[in-house]
Amino acid sequence: MFNSLSDRLTATFKNLRGKGRLSEADVDATVREIRRALLDADVAVPVVREFTGRIRERSLGAEVSGALNPSQQIVKIVNEELVEILGGETRRIRLAKTGPTIIMLAGLQGAGKTTLAGKLAKWLKAQGHSPVLVAADLQRPNAVTQLQIVGERAGVPVYAPHPGTTVDLDVPAGDPVAVARGGVDEARQKLHDVVIVDTAGRLGVDAGMMDQARRIRQAIIPNEVLFVIDSMIGQDAVNTAMAFDEGVNFTGIVLSKLDGDARGGAALSVASVTGKPVMFASTGESLDDFELFHPDRMASRILD
Ligand code: GDP
Repeated sequence: MFNSLSDRLTATFKNLRGKGRLSEADVDATVREIRRALLDADVAVPVVREFTGRIRERSLGAEVSGALNPSQQIVKIVNEELVEILGGETRRIRLAKTGPTIIMLAGLQGAGKTTLAGKLAKWLKAQGHSPVLVAADLQRPNAVTQLQIVGERAGVPVYAPHPGTTVDLDVPAGDPVAVARGGVDEARQKLHDVVIVDTAGRLGVDAGMMDQARRIRQAIIPNEVLFVIDSMIGQDAVNTAMAFDEGVNFTGIVLSKLDGDARGGAALSVASVTGKPVMFASTGESLDDFELFHPDRMASRILD
C-alpha cells in the first residue's frame, strides 16, 4: 500500500518548517513525491509530466503563509490544479430549449454505456423528466436485449429496430444511423423530453466504429455526447479519449466502474488531454449506483 501524498509530503518537509520561501531543491523533492503518487494512481505519463511541471512552477513562486506549513501549501496547490483539470464545478446536462434533449453515449465495448443508459434514464425520470432509450448499438449480439432489460428496470420505454420491443421502429434493422434518427423522431412525436441514444463500441478504437458514431452524431445533432470510460483503463486512457474526441467531439466524460480499485487516474488523464469536464460517475452494477461527479472528491481520491 502507498502512503497518502499528504503523508509523503509531510515526511519530505519534516525539516522545512519555518522557512519563509521554498527553495528549488525543496520543491523538486516535493514534485518527485507528487509524480510518484500520480503514477500510483495510474495517471498517464505525459499528463503527469505536464501536471508536475505546473505544480513546480506555482510552488516555486508561492509564499509560505503563516497558516499553512510548506507541505500543506503544496497539497493545496496540487488540489486546486486537480479540481481545475477535472472540470472545476460539477457540470450539469445542458437541456434543449425546445424539443427533446438528445444525449448520445459513446465509448469502447464493455466501458459501461448500456448500463449507464439505464442509470441516466432512471435518474432523469426521478427528476420529473420523461426519457426514452434508443438502441443504436447493433454491433454486439445482445446489446438491444440488454438495453431493453435495463429500460424495463428503469421504467422507461426502449426504441429498437426489432419486433417485440417496447416500440418497434419502422427503419432498416441493420442501419444504426437510421435507428438513431428514427428513435429521436419517434420521441419527438410522443413528446418525450429526453432521448438517450446507446451506440456501438468495439474492444479497441476502430475506424469503422468511429465513422458510425460520427454519422450518428451528424444525424441526430445531440445536446450532449457523453464519452463513457472504464476507470480501470489506466495508461490506455489517453489514446482512447483522444481518438473519441477527434471522432465524435464529445461534450462530457462519464467514469464507469469507479467502485473498483482504480484511484481515478483515468479521470485526470482524460480530462487533461481533452479539456472536457467529467460529469458523472458510475459506481456499480445496480441502476442506482450513479452520481454526479464531484471534482473535489476525485482530487482527494487521487491524492490519497
Ligand atoms: P457497454 O458495452 O459499453 O454497453 O458496457 P455494459 O454496460 O454492457 O457494461 C459492461 C460490463 O460492466 C457489464 O457486465 C456491466 O454490468 C458492468 N458495469 C457497467 N458499469 C459498471 C460499474 O459502474 N461498476 C461495475 N462494477 N460494473 C459495471
